[in-house]
Amino acid sequence: MTAMHKDRSAAALPEGFEFSQGVLQDLVDCPRRFQLQYVNAQPWPAVEVEPVLEREIYNQRGRQFHRLLERYYTGVPLEAIETTLSEDQLRTWWNAFLREPPLNLPQEVVLPEVRLATALGGQRLICVIDLLAVDPGRRLVIVDWKTGRFRPSREAMAQRLQTRVYPFVAVEAAGRFFGGPVEPARVSMVYWFANYPDQPHVFHYDQAQHDQTRTYLEGLLKEAEDRLASGAWEMTTDERMCSFCVYRSLCGRGIAAGHETDERMIDLGDVELDWESLRLEDVDEIAY
Ligand code: SF4
Repeated sequence: MTAMHKDRSAAALPEGFEFSQGVLQDLVDCPRRFQLQYVNAQPWPAVEVEPVLEREIYNQRGRQFHRLLERYYTGVPLEAIETTLSEDQLRTWWNAFLREPPLNLPQEVVLPEVRLATALGGQRLICVIDLLAVDPGRRLVIVDWKTGRFRPSREAMAQRLQTRVYPFVAVEAAGRFFGGPVEPARVSMVYWFANYPDQPHVFHYDQAQHDQTRTYLEGLLKEAEDRLASGAWEMTTDERMCSFCVYRSLCGRGIAAGHETDERMIDLGDVELDWESLRLEDVDEIAY
């Protein structure tokens, strides 16, 4: 029987709440986590992965690398960027990027850190794209930089909501960069891995996927609405999720964290997505 946390009354999301791929992924992975994080705004009681210091340093490097590429794509000269590369990991990733950048990107409009939003099912759905490359009227490519230690399989990435949400939102909301309505078949998404620069995953989009994604996302938003009304928040039955979840001590799903080199992280596909959104201000409050 599925474990359930049922509150007595209906709940609501905070005013101005925005759905993103991360929020929806939490709902899919574990409704209980969605409740704790977004409905209850529950402070994090445990670290996600141990050892925290090593993990946090690695996360910081990932964030620095994203900022580095943002500077590069806003036109900061290479020499100016390279004077800031004081750390080995960052330099390794940077050299990998220079050696094997994503190939065959549109050139006419190239914008880092683009935030797009659209309305869906009475909610606001957003995404922040690492790099948007567009040849207006012809091609639109979404690039996502990944700095995780592992390269998830193509199948795992295909399952991630990011792979569906980003192209969907781009079709709905990137018309101003495309010079008019964006045809889904002109959109693709590239995951570029700093530790595997010659092995990106590329996903092509089309109208059928767009229609399916709309139906799927509307269903998820409806599910969130129904759960808010009923207060029914099941705990995931896939306990691998719990090994890396900050709330595991609240759910009776263990105290010790999974180790980040655990093979299960590869199976889970892309834990790095969660690492990148780690709330730094919470680190000092972690209780072991
Ligand atoms: S510990 Fe497991 S059941 Fe609890 S919120 Fe996290 S993923 Fe869900």
